[in-house]
Amino acid sequence: MHPISHLFLGWTLANLAGLDRRDRMLVTVAGVIPDLDGLGVVVDIATEGTRHPTWYYDQYHHLLGHNLAFGLALLVLAIPLARRRVGTPLLVLLSFHLHLLADILGSRGPDGYQWPIPYLLPFSKAWTLTWSGQWELKAWPNVVASLVMMALALWWSWKRGRSPLELVSRRADARLTETLRARFGVPG
Ligand SMILES: [Zn+2]
Repeated sequence: MHPISHLFLGWTLANLAGLDRRDRMLVTVAGVIPDLDGLGVVVDIATEGTRHPTWYYDQYHHLLGHNLAFGLALLVLAIPLARRRVGTPLLVLLSFHLHLLADILGSRGPDGYQWPIPYLLPFSKAWTLTWSGQWELKAWPNVVASLVMMALALWWSWKRGRSPLELVSRRADARLTETLRARFGVPG
């Protein structure tokens, strides 16, 4: 899945669980943060055509952030940060695993590469996960799922007064809710 879709997936989980603001943020971020291991692409683009080109994206994407150790690190980090000391760290771990699942289901590259997930790294190289039915990153199931999750986010913004915008700006978040309520009325 695209990182933005992962963000909405984490958001959906956090809102289904009825968490408060800080814990929502933790669960949402856990759903998208594995893809930080793809940031090497920035260096790759910068060094392309130079005498020392890099392939960080190919080397590290789906390696560093897409394994159990990374998920457990997120769980441990969430314990002191979360308001709900037990429930939220477990949801953080679940959100992380939903990310992996979504990648296994639908992140095939246009070249057919499946981006296998080395789940047990760095403990073991066994269990490198792929699924033969995996669809492409831009295939319709991803598009439909993303649209549904975005519609749900808009509905929650109208109904509950919050959206993923709260991760970047509470003001923008409030404005979206105001706009929706001005258009569709105030929820009863
Ligand atoms: Zn991913």
